[in-house]
Amino acid sequence: MKMYVSGKWIESTETINVVNPYDSQIIDTVPKGNFHDVDKAIASAVRGSEVMAALPAYRRFEILRKTADLLEERIEEFAKIITQEEGKTINEARGEVQRAVQTISLSGEEAKRLYGETIPLDGAPTWSGQFGFTIRIPVGVVAAISPFNFPLNLVAHKVGPAIAAGNSVIVKPATDTPLSALKLTEILLESGLPEEGIQCITGTGSSIGDNLVSDKRIRKITFTGSQEVGEHICKVAGLKKVTMELGSNSPLIIMPDADIEKVAAATISSGFSNAGQVCISAQRIITHESIYSDYLDELSSQVNAMNVGDPLNESTLMGPMVRAEDASRVNEWIQTAVESGARTLVGGGFSGAVHQPTVVADVDPDMKISCEELFGPAVAVTPCSNIDQAIELANDTNFGLSAAIFTQDIDVAMRFAKDVHSGNLMINSGPQWRTDLMPYGGVKDSGMGKEGPKYAIEEMTELKMVVYHP
Ligand code: NAP
Repeated sequence: MKMYVSGKWIESTETINVVNPYDSQIIDTVPKGNFHDVDKAIASAVRGSEVMAALPAYRRFEILRKTADLLEERIEEFAKIITQEEGKTINEARGEVQRAVQTISLSGEEAKRLYGETIPLDGAPTWSGQFGFTIRIPVGVVAAISPFNFPLNLVAHKVGPAIAAGNSVIVKPATDTPLSALKLTEILLESGLPEEGIQCITGTGSSIGDNLVSDKRIRKITFTGSQEVGEHICKVAGLKKVTMELGSNSPLIIMPDADIEKVAAATISSGFSNAGQVCISAQRIITHESIYSDYLDELSSQVNAMNVGDPLNESTLMGPMVRAEDASRVNEWIQTAVESGARTLVGGGFSGAVHQPTVVADVDPDMKISCEELFGPAVAVTPCSNIDQAIELANDTNFGLSAAIFTQDIDVAMRFAKDVHSGNLMINSGPQWRTDLMPYGGVKDSGMGKEGPKYAIEEMTELKMVVYHP
């Protein structure tokens, strides 16, 4: 595919292969954009921002509604692209497209809700008849940098709100998975988005990222990706708004009164979907000692029954990781834990990019597989003796994106919600649960700012205060 810069689909002298992680076949190529392309994209986006700011909200709503409709008509086409470029199963990919339909249509609705408010200036002791109100205006140009693991819906979470708020947007998709973002750009244009309202530039973050994020014409960066790259972007961005959606090593606490079969099933859906490559994957399973061995037996038997392999096969439950290097890294972390006294109960092997779903028990919280973000198909199970210790272990991390507990005790559940330091808190579900309308974002090294169209729009607009002096 070509990239979309300055109102045109263009090529570049260099290209990047897009590879199917399951069979290593090249499925397409995209241009390797350079800093000249970045400069052209920003200049075009500045012009586009004026056109976008002049579009009435109803027109922005219509464009996004049509985009959602077209996306819905093409679910199968988009799902196949996602599976081929990213490796998630075809059923997971269909789910991602359905969510993107929601994200874009919610964004369209929110375009009509950019409210200001009247400010009761007469509450000030010095008031002498002034009348005040706020208005919300677009920031201008938004740079949207997205990760590989949800190549469509996480782009939709940036592009939808940016357009709804009346901005122009420059998308820089992950190099492993650029096709979904390019296809989304196509249907936004087909739906009537002004031609300079969007740019979609492909190329490696390490070569073009700094040019993009440091440019003063960019007024807002919305980034989803690793903590390391997020911190780098914050350092070079200078004075502009940033939203950082970063990683985590989410805890799942299991108390003695939990239904073990249900928790084991939740561990699988929360820990192994998309081969564990989800920012809110269940990673640290903190299990009460009284049910520790029963839970491990049940989890092991359910994991053993998982169908792993070709992600295009309808019956496959888990596909490959995005790259063979990642499967090898995950395996190394598991081996290191085992050498230090942990036990692998199920899985533990890999071939190419496919790593077997793995259960590691007796994990010490200081082991890398527990204290760093694994981002792969293994769960690290650690025993605990009471809720105090469970909360202490859950909080013993630099991250804080999602945390979960299974318990029937309302007091324990509410203590968990109050005392665990995390952006999302799930009671009687795994930590990997999200619906696209809710506010979503982390604390500590998991980032700052919120996504979810309503909340992202707040971050992509400025508030102006107007005071009328009679
Ligand atoms: P990544 O390596 O940090 O890359 C994310 C994006 O940043 C890619 O588009 C990448 O481009 C770009 N990038 C790299 N260096 C850059 C630079 N110097 N300047 C600007 N952009 C740069 O992350 P990933 O491996 O794709 O995704 C996995 C990570 O994302 C995990 O840590 C996961 O937890 C996190 N994540 C968080 C959320 C959330 O909502 N909190 C959701 C999903 C994923 P290239 O691809 O060209 O390197």
